Amino acid sequence: MEFEVYKKLHERIFRENGLDSLLSDSVSRETGISKTEAFWKLTEHMLSVNERMNLTAVRDPEGVAFLHYADSLLIANEIPRGVTLCDVGCGAGFPSLPLAIAREDLSFFAVDSTEKKMRYVAETAELLGLSGRFEARSARAEELGQGDLRESFACVTARAVSNLRMLSELCLPLVSVGGTFLSMKGANWQAEYKDAENAITLLGGVLERASEFELRNGEKVEKRCLLVIRKERETPAKYPRVWGKIKSKPL
Ligand code: SAH
Repeated sequence: MEFEVYKKLHERIFRENGLDSLLSDSVSRETGISKTEAFWKLTEHMLSVNERMNLTAVRDPEGVAFLHYADSLLIANEIPRGVTLCDVGCGAGFPSLPLAIAREDLSFFAVDSTEKKMRYVAETAELLGLSGRFEARSARAEELGQGDLRESFACVTARAVSNLRMLSELCLPLVSVGGTFLSMKGANWQAEYKDAENAITLLGGVLERASEFELRNGEKVEKRCLLVIRKERETPAKYPRVWGKIKSKPL
């Protein structure tokens, strides 16, 4: 696909999802290219690496713009200005890489337990000119939650990592008191929340709001929900536990 063809579908998908404000043709001083060009560069790079390494099941640029970019950016306006966002279980860099292109005021700390994926994410951030404010770390979230980075992020997010009950124990310990955990979920969020409510309370959090969205691409519509969970109190020192415990005895 040529860049001009991609640009048309990229702009259409962003507009259909109310992301007009994140479209820009002006050249960024940081990266030397426009945001649309950065998204195209990311798409070409990811799909080419994807031929030898399993990064995503989505194999065409239109699917990537819809299911990875628009989906990742539905939370773009929920992140306070200037903070460092921790992306837990970022995989191939979602939602952090699209957010880093779209929001130049933010810094990123992306974490995944798979070293190979984090090598790819670090190399991609470098290729896009984002590495000055994008750190990629290969680590387990529950280990970081018991280390120096405990309660150090104003904002933590996670997309498609695990159910909210276990995910809360991975993410909430990393959030500073007063900060937020932005959990990206699908249509069945209510049942997941009910299961997770006790864990969220024990970990010092409270559900502030659930915002429902419709993710669109022409006739295709998918339901999404963003749970904004505020950290009200410090997380008790015994959490997060080791992964075996989180899994076998979820809170
Ligand atoms: N957020 C990405 C990837 C989802 S796949 C996306 O939306 O496309 C889930 C990822 O979470 C995997 O890459 C897996 O390695 C990572 N993961 C699972 N448990 C983890 C943990 N405890 N700490 C860090 N990463 C974890």
